[in-house]
Amino acid sequence: MTGSAPLGGFAAVLEDVKRTRSKKEKVRIFSDYLSGIGAGDAETAARLATGRSSQRGSRDEAQVGYSTLLEVLREVTGAGREKVSGAYLKHGDLGEVAEELLGERREQPLFSEPLTLDDLESTFLRLRSAKGKGSGATRKGLVKSLFLRASPLEGKYVVKVLTGEMRTGLVAGLLEEAVARAYSVPKEVVARAHMLVGDPGLLAAAAARKELGALKMTPFRPVNFMLAEPMATPDEIAAHFEKEVYAEYKYDGVRAQAHKLGGEVRIYSRRLEEITSSFPEVAATLRRVEGNVILDGEIVPYSDGHPLPFQLLQRRLRRLEDFEEAARKAPVTFFAFDLLYHGEALTDAPLKERKRILEGAFRGVGTLAHSEPVKEASEIRAAFRRSRDLGYEGLVLKDPASLYTMGKRGSGWVKLKEELDTIDAVIVAAEYGNGKRAGVISDYTFAVRDGDALKTIGKAYSGLSDAEIAEMTAKMKELTVESHGHWMRVSPSVVVEVAFDSVQRSERHDSGYALRFPRIKRVRADKSASEIDTLERVSAIFSKQRLKLEGPPRGSR
Ligand code: ATP
Repeated sequence: MTGSAPLGGFAAVLEDVKRTRSKKEKVRIFSDYLSGIGAGDAETAARLATGRSSQRGSRDEAQVGYSTLLEVLREVTGAGREKVSGAYLKHGDLGEVAEELLGERREQPLFSEPLTLDDLESTFLRLRSAKGKGSGATRKGLVKSLFLRASPLEGKYVVKVLTGEMRTGLVAGLLEEAVARAYSVPKEVVARAHMLVGDPGLLAAAAARKELGALKMTPFRPVNFMLAEPMATPDEIAAHFEKEVYAEYKYDGVRAQAHKLGGEVRIYSRRLEEITSSFPEVAATLRRVEGNVILDGEIVPYSDGHPLPFQLLQRRLRRLEDFEEAARKAPVTFFAFDLLYHGEALTDAPLKERKRILEGAFRGVGTLAHSEPVKEASEIRAAFRRSRDLGYEGLVLKDPASLYTMGKRGSGWVKLKEELDTIDAVIVAAEYGNGKRAGVISDYTFAVRDGDALKTIGKAYSGLSDAEIAEMTAKMKELTVESHGHWMRVSPSVVVEVAFDSVQRSERHDSGYALRFPRIKRVRADKSASEIDTLERVSAIFSKQRLKLEGPPRGSR
């Protein structure tokens, strides 16, 4: 294999990127590195630097669970459980644990050939294709062979990629700047190309080959979703737009981007992972749309004109049972609300125009999201009530002139939800339950983000069904990094949406706050730990609620 860049150099660069706090320096270091390697390596490096081992748009199947990584690390280094959990407590990051343990192993690798980015790529390919019976052992063997050859620093970054937790601070915007600087292309051109192809690897490779201008939005390359800005009241929303806008029902399901090219349909989740096989009947319907299209919409559990509980979707997403059974128990409808591509990209056309084309292409084939014109606060309030009465979550209000801003929480879309807030938090510890729940892990401590740190804000015992608790039990076991009898610390990975009655000050949790009567509304498999709510938001809810308590009494909700 000639010429692939050594993994050691890549790891050292990421380490430098991580160490400096200056964003400018991060950009400089990574761009200097990119300009010294070939286009193929740049593709791998840019993708890995964002914590992904495979192209966006596929399930990241090369990822390896914490328990497997810990097991292999113990085998390779001879470290005992105590030692490993001590190291985890010290660092709070599995990559750093690997670095420490690999540094202390008795025998350092003798291998004379250093690992390269190509070696890593080919291992990922094999990890992805290891499926079915015996694949657990194969995967373990593949990871072990990497650790046997890796230096401590290389091991650290192998783990970071395999867990998808890079934490170097090289966020998408900075990566774009690095690509722009490395290949002397204007930042705006890079940012735009990134939106269109979604994948940082393809972006870097195209820039290296001077082919950015040729990148186009294409079906089967998912792009980031446009997001909505939350607002609290109809009055605030009416004042924000000051004109007639579309009020759409806020459906409670999973966001989906459906791509059709020729006779084939692929559906992607909010995390840009392919979920087509979970919803074959949706794909079958969309296959009847004329032309090549990219649709945006929500897959909703729905039957006889009524929404069904969201929880029904979870099993379908995880494909736990055969499709016929799942479709019978949880029939779904795809509600389309936007069109990003119709033979050509439409993201720069105003929503009004996109909707006109969507209606032409989709009416009579699938179901369009309900949309009505509103302007005054009273009209917004009435539409909101109607939506809630029908069992939906609220409204998404959209400016007819707004462009489709990929990956942005633009002010062109605004959401109004039920007034009781929920918080997205990540589970950091768990416990076996009591009584009826003695054999299962049913108590979860969850945390919000405070800068780089996670701060706990509560513990939930309720909200999940027995079947969901059984699944959670297996998941928590898999994520355990340290166990003390019935209590365990888990790697922060499962995101839950928690409903609560109010926020209180608390000394019990290190955030300084506790949620009162927290209950898990749902597991947000579509969100990653980097997308959870912040401590800042919790304290804003706390202040708002004080205002409410201390302000004039409000009318009935
Ligand atoms: P939430 O937790 O409120 O669903 P989110 O962070 O997943 O929020 P946002 O963009 O903030 O995403 O809120 C809008 C979400 O509402 C979309 O991601 C989508 O899943 C859902 N949704 C339901 N109906 C619509 C609609 N008609 N238009 C746009 N989004 C809709």
